[in-house]
Amino acid sequence: MESFKALVAEQADGKPKIGLTRWTDADLPDGDVTVAVEWSSLNYKDGLALTGKGRILRKFPMVPGIDFAGTVTESKSPDFKPGDGVILTGWGVGESWSGGFAERARVKSEWLVPLPDGLGARQAMAVGTAGFTAMLCVMALEGHGIDREREILVTGAAGGVGSVAVRLLANLGYTVAASTGRPEQADYLKSLGASVIVDRNELSQPSKPLTSERWGGAVDTVGGVTLASVLAGTAYGGAVAACGLAGGADLPSTVMPFILRNVALLGVDSVNCPKPRRQEAWARIAKELPAEALDAVTTEITLEELPGKAEDILKGQVRGRTVVRIA
Ligand code: NDP
Repeated sequence: MESFKALVAEQADGKPKIGLTRWTDADLPDGDVTVAVEWSSLNYKDGLALTGKGRILRKFPMVPGIDFAGTVTESKSPDFKPGDGVILTGWGVGESWSGGFAERARVKSEWLVPLPDGLGARQAMAVGTAGFTAMLCVMALEGHGIDREREILVTGAAGGVGSVAVRLLANLGYTVAASTGRPEQADYLKSLGASVIVDRNELSQPSKPLTSERWGGAVDTVGGVTLASVLAGTAYGGAVAACGLAGGADLPSTVMPFILRNVALLGVDSVNCPKPRRQEAWARIAKELPAEALDAVTTEITLEELPGKAEDILKGQVRGRTVVRIA
């Protein structure tokens, strides 16, 4: 049986031990579609998985990698045939089911989304789970209805979700305020369309239950005190799409923004997002994120370089999106 390159996590002393090795199809889980993986990406959750800091990996041996794009090589499903371009994000892949950091993956057909017209596999992974989540956040805000006269805040703006959210919101004509702890990324964020740069420290101190009404809406990737401050400063009738915990999983807030300002807290999950919404989000990504916009946020690395980058993303030192060349 032909072998292929795979980054495999084994369990050693309760921690994952990650190494490049060769697997065969017999090592892959039992799905109905096999994919030649061309591109994967590095997300915050992958950083947690590769370093063993977040107990993300639930099975061993396992190929981590929560997303990938590539071409179908074998299919028992009527929905896909060899040669089809596909994207996978979420569904526990790269957590309890072998994922994208290998030249081949076998998954359930219902988890796959066809590559939309106009989007290549590399572009799809330049978006990846983070960018897809950014689009879900934008859709959540749109569904709620946002006052276009006010600023929309993005926290963790220089990260993966943040960078794509800034670009999407700016493209849609919103005035985007980008909060970052890296002032040296101000020019980068302005190049993505941010009008205003907000120092992360302004939001990371405990705030009063309500502060002056500034944000028409927000995409929050940070959580913790930052999310509480964002809620406190959201204007009457505004909404905050909360998708991340880069700064903490707690929410030291009060009910005041909800009961006195009619503020809505919109939860955003990408892992179990239903298929129709996935397809809608990917179709919009293909239309609204031109290739040059993605190039500006993307760094390319190899599978060999990947383990070294895992710590960097947890330290908040990775800018924008990192695509991983698999084949
Ligand atoms: P990144 O590491 O690329 O971005 C996170 C950004 O948050 C950093 O770049 C940094 O931005 C900021 N940050 C980091 N640490 C802190 C801190 N201690 N306090 C305040 N800000 C901080 O990660 P991703 O964009 O891939 O993911 C962002 C978050 O969203 C993660 O928590 C991730 O788990 C979550 N996520 C959730 C998904 C879902 O389905 N709900 C899907 C994808 C991601 P800056 O330097 O600009 O301040």
